[in-house]
Amino acid sequence: MSPYVPVLTFHKIDENPSVISFPPGLFASFMEKLYRNGYRTVGLTDAVDNLYRGGSPPEKTFVLTFDDGYRSVFSQAFPVMKRYGMSATVFLTVGEPSEPRSGGRIPRLNGSEMLSWAEVTEMRDAGFRFGAHTLTHPDLTRLGTEKIEYEIVKSKEIIEGVLGEPVRSFAYPCGRYDERSMGIASRFFDCACSDELGLLTSESKRYALGRVDAFYLKNERLAGLMLSDLFPYYVRLRNVPRSIRRRLGGR
Ligand SMILES: [Zn+2]
Repeated sequence: MSPYVPVLTFHKIDENPSVISFPPGLFASFMEKLYRNGYRTVGLTDAVDNLYRGGSPPEKTFVLTFDDGYRSVFSQAFPVMKRYGMSATVFLTVGEPSEPRSGGRIPRLNGSEMLSWAEVTEMRDAGFRFGAHTLTHPDLTRLGTEKIEYEIVKSKEIIEGVLGEPVRSFAYPCGRYDERSMGIASRFFDCACSDELGLLTSESKRYALGRVDAFYLKNERLAGLMLSDLFPYYVRLRNVPRSIRRRLGGR
């Protein structure tokens, strides 16, 4: 198998039974287990650059990503990750440009409390990177091209305005993209993540990178699979029903 790096996707770290929630206790024990077994995080764009240059990533490296920018990334995940010297890329849905910023909280998404810009800055200072995830989290495949570009580019500009550094990565809301949004992402970013289930390799599509949603690792036994040689096979296996569903017209 060619060299690969797993890119894990989390959303919220809380006890809610929702598909986008991951329990805090399991998150802490999962990260501890990875750390104790020699696993270390690498930045998303670093991993992509390295693989595309034909490099072989050091063994036991993985990428952590969080989508949307919920407050629990700071309150639950960040303290654990700091303990193990880990970092992540957080894809932020930032709200309309008219919303107040400078230290304030990012407007709620679907009723959920989001990170504050002060928390974003604190995590950046600790080595986290921030990617764009649009202004309002729309299904980009349903928008006109101009609106797609506005949602993508404005969100990038807002984050850059606060952090004073380039935003290099993007994630499509709910992973949904088409040729138009991919074209726009390729003009403004170094890479973009979809919701396709897969490991990062030199063959990955740079503007539709696959990841492994933490939903597939949501108990001790499944999380433990990441430490095993069987992990790539597990990812491939979980992908089969998805590709069948997709072929039948659903997602
Ligand atoms: Zn999202």
